[in-house]
Amino acid sequence: MASIIQFSNVTYSYPRTDTPAIRDISFEVEKGEFVAMIGPTGAGKSTLCYCFNGAVPQLFSGEMSGTVDVAGCSTFEKEIPVLAQHVGLVVQNARTQLFNVSVLQEVGFGCENLGMPREVIRDRVRQALEFVGLTGFEDREPGALSGGQQQRVAIACVLAMDPDILVLDEPTSELDPIGSEQVMEVIARLNHELGKTIFLVTHDMEFVAKYARRVFVLSDHQLIKVGTPEEIFSDQALLEQARIRPPQICTVAMKLREMGYLITSIPLTMEEAVPLFTGLSHG
Ligand code: ADP
Repeated sequence: MASIIQFSNVTYSYPRTDTPAIRDISFEVEKGEFVAMIGPTGAGKSTLCYCFNGAVPQLFSGEMSGTVDVAGCSTFEKEIPVLAQHVGLVVQNARTQLFNVSVLQEVGFGCENLGMPREVIRDRVRQALEFVGLTGFEDREPGALSGGQQQRVAIACVLAMDPDILVLDEPTSELDPIGSEQVMEVIARLNHELGKTIFLVTHDMEFVAKYARRVFVLSDHQLIKVGTPEEIFSDQALLEQARIRPPQICTVAMKLREMGYLITSIPLTMEEAVPLFTGLSHG
């Protein structure tokens, strides 16, 4: 399958800093893939997310080398509004991205800026709100919604632009468990119902285990490992190095293995664990 995202030897330093925030990052992502990026605070995850829509380096300036191509566009050559039609970026705290007086205006804002016809905008906004489960919220003020609803409005805003790629930077880190679940469910459906390419930064390892096809581990400003969730979550040395706590079910399996039980593979979900744990015997 063709790759839709290509980072080649990307190194970037913010203005007035000596050390790069991300260093020599190279990877490709296929169209329709679900990639999760994990790693400790300060590793460079947000900075990397800002590379997708050209904000790094176009808005932040600073020093950048290497190349980033998304949906066939170089982020050096195309302007941010053009890139926004290919990549939607949702940040950690949606509140900072919402500034219109109504949800309707908020979600239609990007399309209006592109000068789309009114009927097209209306349809896109309706579909986007329906998708995130916020039909009926059109006249509400974004600032007055719950954190989870705001995050879903932010997703609807980028969805209305119909990008192929969605980049989400810790979209649930400030939400309560119910709000998080609702947002994560929307993200999973973006991938499997609409076929969107997802690049998700999160600390929610249960979600990573369940949905990500590949996991990128960023530590100390570098991409130190790319693997399947099973490869990543069973690599004890890597988990320690990148300060990652795997899903609880993986920890239980590894503990059982340490205790001498025959665990043939590390399960990622309860569904996978039940047959593995049934009738366990000592090795
Ligand atoms: P993460 O998202 O993994 O927590 P960040 O991308 O936010 O990491 O930060 C990576 C590095 O870049 C850190 O050392 C951080 O201090 C630095 N950094 C982030 N934003 C800025 C900025 N606007 N100016 C200067 N340095 C920054």
